[in-house]
Amino acid sequence: MGCRWFLLSLTSLLACLTCWAAPPDLVLRNGLLIDGTGNPPVKGDLAVRDGRIVAVGVVAEKGLKEMDVAGWVVAPGFIDVHTHAENIEDHPRAENFLRMGVTTLVLGNCGSSKLKLGEFFQRLEVNGTAANVASLIGHGTVRAQVMGGSFRRAPTEDELNQIRAHTAQAMRDGALGMSTGLIYLPGTFAKTEELVEMAKIVGARGGIYASHMRSEGTQIMEALDELCRIAREAHLPVHVSHIKIADKNRWGQSAAVLARLAAARKDGLRITQDQYAYTASSTGLRQLLPDDAVAGGRARFAELFTDADAKARIVQQMKDRLRQGGRDDFAYAMIAHYKHQTNYNGLSVPEAAKAHSGRATLDDQIDLLLEIEKNGGASGVFHGMHEDDLRAFLKDAHTMFASDSGVRVFAEGVPHPRGYGNNARYLARYVREERLLSVAEAVRRMTSLPAKTFGIPQRGALQVGHWADVVVFNTDKVQDAATFKAPHQYATGFRLVLVNGKPVVEDDRQNDGLHGRIIRAR
Ligand SMILES: [Zn+2]
Repeated sequence: MGCRWFLLSLTSLLACLTCWAAPPDLVLRNGLLIDGTGNPPVKGDLAVRDGRIVAVGVVAEKGLKEMDVAGWVVAPGFIDVHTHAENIEDHPRAENFLRMGVTTLVLGNCGSSKLKLGEFFQRLEVNGTAANVASLIGHGTVRAQVMGGSFRRAPTEDELNQIRAHTAQAMRDGALGMSTGLIYLPGTFAKTEELVEMAKIVGARGGIYASHMRSEGTQIMEALDELCRIAREAHLPVHVSHIKIADKNRWGQSAAVLARLAAARKDGLRITQDQYAYTASSTGLRQLLPDDAVAGGRARFAELFTDADAKARIVQQMKDRLRQGGRDDFAYAMIAHYKHQTNYNGLSVPEAAKAHSGRATLDDQIDLLLEIEKNGGASGVFHGMHEDDLRAFLKDAHTMFASDSGVRVFAEGVPHPRGYGNNARYLARYVREERLLSVAEAVRRMTSLPAKTFGIPQRGALQVGHWADVVVFNTDKVQDAATFKAPHQYATGFRLVLVNGKPVVEDDRQNDGLHGRIIRAR
């Protein structure tokens, strides 16, 4: 008790010393402070001045503004390490994120990023964003830049040097690390050696390697082996993006995957993972087509339809892959956003096939998928996971909670609800309803764990000197509202979201403030 009093007094004294010149801009009184490090909640105050946290615990001074938050949790703003929010340039308020407490976005995932991060960051700084923005450099982006359309080979020595140069530049521009998307073009054609060479540049500058692995189902153990090899040979921390078991006939393998990760950590590798709180994934419907069919671009894809044999081969490959994954048809796949025919948005593939041709046999479904690709493609939602695997991954202490979403354009398409609900859903469903983890632990997974792992300085904890990214929410009321049928609904239960000390969300309403900063790796 005495010791704690001493520490609290010391904190207050230090706070007084640092801010003697002026009172705090804002003091939150009597909140339930969850500091983000996993410590249990403590009742107390929090003071903010000039964008920083200047006191935590007992605040004697009166703020220019005071707010009584008795009964509300006060936590660090959430950090979403897996976003595809490059479109924040067009939608700087990023309302879907801020309104579920997310104050920092990591862009550039799954191998796809802005190539010239320095210029991108400068533009964002000029125009402003509501959330803080950091980015990885995408391997796929760099590979496409260097190797053009020639995907299906290893880079020449000269090209490899160019890959290294782009990567080094991105790291100098402040990238937190690199990402790969090894099921996507062109990443899927890269051999491990190429990834190691790029990762060495990243590792030498203290960055992380985050990967959408080569397989999230049938070949997941081999995919983990590759990840571990990269960690070992390039000497850097590695991270599994949106961990899941996607193939039906591999459901239940979460335990084996977690055991593999634990063994790697025991061997000294630094490995973490992120996850979203839904048993459906989302990506382009193109992922249902064989790489060979789409690798040549749209013109070559259209040509395939004039060749009956070629088309028959594609159809057969699609059927084989479906069966390997333990499924009979594409009923688990929904059309999220198909520009060419928006009335199909929200329908499953068989439903859309029925609407399209009056029949919904597997061949009809495949015909529709091929036609969609021919018309420019569509995004999809795939109900492919089992809740038990999700829960097992969730309980692992190294799992962060991340949305895998871009900035949502309100009312456009029928996208995956995670973009509007992910963080709130962890707090509502898995903390409050299912009691799978404590609120302090859930907050840690969304704050200090991502900040430490991705090297985000001075954020992710309620600590004097940290930037004042703060979220105030009610544990009884916090709720995700977005569903698969009606995803365009904001989360609720957030009384206040501060970004760098400035209120952006108040009582579940967002103002027009653009107070985010660019976060560059140190
Ligand atoms: Zn991905």
